[in-house]
Amino acid sequence: MSERITAVKGMNDIAPPQSAHWEWLEQRVRALLQRYGYRNIRTPIVEPLALFVRGLGEVTDIVEKEMYAFEDRLNGEQLALRPEGTAGVVRAVVEHALLYDGPKRFYYMGPMFRHERPQRGRYRQFHQIGVEALGLAGPEVDAELITMAADLWQQLGLEDIVLEINTLGQPAERAAHRQALIAYFEQHRDQLDEDARRRLYTNPLRILDTKNPAMQALVEQAPRLLDHLGATSRAHFETVCALLQAQGIAYRVNPRLVRGLDYYQHTVFEFVTTSLGAQGTVCAGGRYDGLVAELGGKPAPGVGWAMGVERILALLEAQQRLPAAPVPDAYAIVPDAAAWAQVLPVLRALRQAGLQVLMHASTPDGLASMKAQFKKADASGARYALIFGADELAQGSVAIKPLRAQPEGTVAQQVLRPLAQAQQWARELAPTLT
Ligand code: ATP
Ligand code: MG
Repeated sequence: MSERITAVKGMNDIAPPQSAHWEWLEQRVRALLQRYGYRNIRTPIVEPLALFVRGLGEVTDIVEKEMYAFEDRLNGEQLALRPEGTAGVVRAVVEHALLYDGPKRFYYMGPMFRHERPQRGRYRQFHQIGVEALGLAGPEVDAELITMAADLWQQLGLEDIVLEINTLGQPAERAAHRQALIAYFEQHRDQLDEDARRRLYTNPLRILDTKNPAMQALVEQAPRLLDHLGATSRAHFETVCALLQAQGIAYRVNPRLVRGLDYYQHTVFEFVTTSLGAQGTVCAGGRYDGLVAELGGKPAPGVGWAMGVERILALLEAQQRLPAAPVPDAYAIVPDAAAWAQVLPVLRALRQAGLQVLMHASTPDGLASMKAQFKKADASGARYALIFGADELAQGSVAIKPLRAQPEGTVAQQVLRPLAQAQQWARELAPTLT
């Protein structure tokens, strides 16, 4: 045997039974987003590096140290694996003038890549489900997409998720606040860590986002952007809050919430849980009215969020909200390899009728004994065994044996059904089929 090749550190394989949880969650989210009128958009995983440098901002964690950037060795282009979804969606919107006939609501799902230290809830390839509403400026859209996320938690039966919300105001207000922040941090230079010192003049707002416990007290006392807001920004924020209240959605205003990316203005928010340890943010987003123009488009507002699929699944697991593993309706037991030509057409007909049928097949050791096949049938969780024995086949039939508990007072009866009419009796095995 040759030496094994393993997956890249921080990048995970997702195999059954976990993959069924992924599919289930994706379906639930898709159905919900569609009810709100959000439509799927799919953009490439590889983008020009410049898209993220310009879109996210040069002094962000992602651009400074987390990006998988590389040179295309065939033509020397500077490329990157996407670290997030918004920049790509906005690029596509600008490139194809997708707003030509009015505002658009999009959602996407897929892998993102960041070179971070892998730990629980933090991976180098991770998955996001995100939404972006483009061309819509009002606070009602901020509220709409926050509501969507809140609906999702409710539908999934998730608890202990708190909505934190803040406003970053508009560029002029941020500039005034920035000056106040720089002055404040200059006064306390000795308490700044290396990261903060480096950011003091480039991106002081990001110092507020520090995860360094030693700086928490300092950051707590820092000047608040809320105190530098003009009437328009204040009104936008107050309306978002009022619209959440009108729907009974609880939130906590967190003046220190700044988000990691440069493109945000006005509303920013995070849904945070205490059930997952340090990696507690399950969904985050905000308004990014400057981004479309920044990426060369005709100015248009935007607002969106992205949720971390791994973290939502971990939370579903912690709160025991994952669905039971899917089971086949029937398991086909085939004692003799000579029977395949009779068996396969029957199974095909059952599947065409909508049944999930798992077929016993031979391994390198050959075809297992009847007894071993029955064991497998049982372990599969199937409700019925279909027994294609020599006697049954000689009569043109298959024996159907219930494997699961029967209603009280009834015995698990084995019945014979004609091979030739599989589509007709398929419904017996799955009454829910239409
Ligand atoms: P954090 O502060 O945890 O690094 P972030 O601000 O970098 O998060 P965003 O860019 O807002 O995260 O991404 C949105 C969501 O994607 C996060 O709230 C989180 O649920 C998820 N996420 C971000 N980075 C990772 C990662 N490396 N592994 C798993 N999930 C992640
Ligand atoms: Mg991060």
